[in-house]
Amino acid sequence: MILSPGATVGILGAGQLGRMLAMAALKIGLRCHVYAPETEAPAHDAAHARTIAPYEDRAALRRFVETCDLVTFEFENVPTECLEFLQTLKPVRPSPRALALTQDRLTEKTFLRGLGLETAPFADVADAGALMRAVREIGRPSILKTRRFGYDGKGQTMLREGSDLGAVHRALGAGPMILEGFVAFEREVSVIAARSLEGAVVAYDLCENEHERHILARTRVPAHVAPELLPRAREIAEKIIVGLDYVGVIGVEMFCARDAAGAERLIVNEIAPRVHNSGHWTIEGAETSQFEQHMRAIAGWPLGATTRRGLIEMRNLIGEEAEDWRDILAEPDMSLHLYGKLQARPGRKMGHVTRVLRP
Ligand code: AMP
Repeated sequence: MILSPGATVGILGAGQLGRMLAMAALKIGLRCHVYAPETEAPAHDAAHARTIAPYEDRAALRRFVETCDLVTFEFENVPTECLEFLQTLKPVRPSPRALALTQDRLTEKTFLRGLGLETAPFADVADAGALMRAVREIGRPSILKTRRFGYDGKGQTMLREGSDLGAVHRALGAGPMILEGFVAFEREVSVIAARSLEGAVVAYDLCENEHERHILARTRVPAHVAPELLPRAREIAEKIIVGLDYVGVIGVEMFCARDAAGAERLIVNEIAPRVHNSGHWTIEGAETSQFEQHMRAIAGWPLGATTRRGLIEMRNLIGEEAEDWRDILAEPDMSLHLYGKLQARPGRKMGHVTRVLRP
């Protein structure tokens, strides 16, 4: 099913990703109906219509989907049952299957391995006993992560020599987990790619990401890696997006590490089944932003060019950093984005700023 201009896209989730998706949708003549449990949230301001209800509310979901031509999501922890229900009424893109697979770190890593891609060594940790066995197999340092609902470093703990395994397991909630070998990476990189309804794949240039306290602080493009890694990164993203039979924009997070011979290689860490923070620079820095690209892809429209317009630096404005908005506005080459969040709590993404150094 291909959308016509004027159609309405339903977006589940009302964060800044939804806000920027809705703004991009407007540019190309689409409207958005945002559905989320929160009353105050960034995407509500940009939406044509909004529903404030829990993801489990079948009556509200039904009313919502009746007003939409198709549904997408900006938040990866939407319950899959919600998307599966909506899919019985309207197309959902990307598919609930792609979301379900990436919501669980164990199925995600198993899928990546199945594609022949390198990941950190990992082991299933079903319970405390399995953790002892997994630590014997993977060794330390290693990282214990909950299988579900982890983001920005939440739901994970580093295991070192002497860590009390029972205490760490309990502190993470004693649910299903995965133990991952620690990757001594040199840099963290990501690829933002998109696949159209007909199966065309495009990718943006490789991004290099710096985190502070587990939150993305800065993205630079292009990444400073060996040139042979650039086509390799694209190849990895393409394998994943095709393997998922995906429609829309995807973010693939990877580590760049050196092997024993000193050569750089890419190790896949995580798939984000949505537009990605490390792709915010594409608004000013690429011919087509990742947000417009996502809308084009799910609408069944041709994809746009991903050509980069210069050297890029994107910085997230976290918590009180957004108070510098006046100074940022005074810099002629900085493009400021604020997400309209009323409270600047520590660790909260309040906005971002992009600088494009034109060649
Ligand atoms: P994640 O929630 O998997 O994206 O992890 C958040 C951050 O923790 C990553 O961006 C890395 O900085 C770090 N991290 C996660 N897994 C590993 C790993 N296996 N080895 C080293 N660092 C990791």
